Amino acid sequence: MSQETNPTPSLAELLDGDLDPSVLPKDAVIAMDGPAGSGKSTTARYLADRYGLVYIDTGAMYRALTWAALDAGTDLSSESSLVALLEANRLEFQPARGEARILWNGGDVSAQIRRPEVDAAVSEVSSHAAVRAEMVARQQQMGRNGGVVMEGRDIGSVVFPLATAKIFLTASLEDRARRRFKQNQQRGVEVDPADLQADLAERDRMDSSRETSPLTISPDAIVIDSSGMSLDQQNRACAHACLVNPTLDLTVDRDLDRSKAEMPFSYRLAYAVFGALARFYGMKYVNCGRQAMPRGCIAAINHVSYWDPPLVGATFLRYRVNSIAKEELFRPWPAGAILRWFDVIPIRRKGYDKTAFDAATSSLQAGNSIQFYPEGTRRAIGHPGPVRNGLGILVQATRAPVQPIFIRGSYGRQPLGSTISPLEVSYGPLLRWHGVDALLERIDRKEVSRRIAKLCEAAFVELQARSFARMPETEWERKTGELQLRKFASRQKRVFGP
Ligand code: C5P
Repeated sequence: MSQETNPTPSLAELLDGDLDPSVLPKDAVIAMDGPAGSGKSTTARYLADRYGLVYIDTGAMYRALTWAALDAGTDLSSESSLVALLEANRLEFQPARGEARILWNGGDVSAQIRRPEVDAAVSEVSSHAAVRAEMVARQQQMGRNGGVVMEGRDIGSVVFPLATAKIFLTASLEDRARRRFKQNQQRGVEVDPADLQADLAERDRMDSSRETSPLTISPDAIVIDSSGMSLDQQNRACAHACLVNPTLDLTVDRDLDRSKAEMPFSYRLAYAVFGALARFYGMKYVNCGRQAMPRGCIAAINHVSYWDPPLVGATFLRYRVNSIAKEELFRPWPAGAILRWFDVIPIRRKGYDKTAFDAATSSLQAGNSIQFYPEGTRRAIGHPGPVRNGLGILVQATRAPVQPIFIRGSYGRQPLGSTISPLEVSYGPLLRWHGVDALLERIDRKEVSRRIAKLCEAAFVELQARSFARMPETEWERKTGELQLRKFASRQKRVFGP
């Protein structure tokens, strides 16, 4: 794989690299996940200090709710009572140097939330979907403008799927229990070491096996096992891991000005035609500049219209791209010939089409990129996903980075100058699969594909939210999306089979 695609750094590289804090943008979001006692809090605080970011401990939020529920005698198995408790009271997180403070109705409960009875009950409280939905929304709000190191269990996988850097920090159960014991001693909390280890093991089990956003390695996270490392080494490794992904500046362009030297004639012709059409309809491009999408990537694009491939395709100006399209499109005689002229690979959508996947794999391995619509069919506008397993199969076969791309406004005839829907193609940060090997040691390939699909879905949702923040969803988009949602439910079965 080419240098441009940035392979996962080794532990030695993470420990030895030169640190240059200026590389990290001020609006960076660092997602730190990992099991209890892995040293996340200590290192997250170190990173916040080093890079000038705000440290947010999401575990403290679940703990504060747990403490309040225990205090009020709320039934911990009752989701609605817990949500009501959260909504009726004021939970505040006050970021500060050293240990951040957590306030419940203005009172400082930072010490109480570390008590053993909270330790023992917090996993049950945090397993409720509605509690999580509320907490996640608050966390997203806190990190909306970036500039944060957020620590928890589901930050990279759910809260910030497009974080600047994702670190999964782990350590052996024995090491974690030892560290937690020392930490408790310093805080004046007395717990039996054996009980502590058993409690950590139980919390790991509950956090990892719950239905809603369990503790998991996001497939693009850098996994650091700190067993046997000194604190200094752990901090250094994590500080370097923050710098592994190149950063993306938000740039909105109207025109794409890029080298066309390597393009075959067919591509240049198509770019001229579709580029002109896009310009005519006022298409905006976000982050599609020169730094986006190196060679050998899978461009994963949400699908709403037959216009998507040429309109998105018009943003890939530098090298050949093999698109993947349903085989039905090749049938009427001249269509097949034209599509092949554009290096399009036909795919059968029912079941697993090995020929198509092999062709895509060889193309990626040869350094080309692939244009891929991982939802497998057109979806209702405003409702991207679900993503099918094909993307994960392709990623596992090649480890090719995925460039998430969101297209908006390609559906529907836009009267000239109208604003029924803004036309926009936006690129997210490139997803690199640093965590896939570690995941494969824990779960099977099918489950890994499912996690990759989930991450891509989350990326679409996030890119859509960012697009709506730039240009609010129009009434036409909302209504059309709802209509399509009903209509498409039946198409799903027809296209993919039961
Ligand atoms: O990080 P800490 O050990 O303080 O987290 C306490 C508990 O809160 C975890 O065991 C987990 O059940 C829950 N938690 C969570 N999601 C997060 C952070 C914490 O479910 N993002």
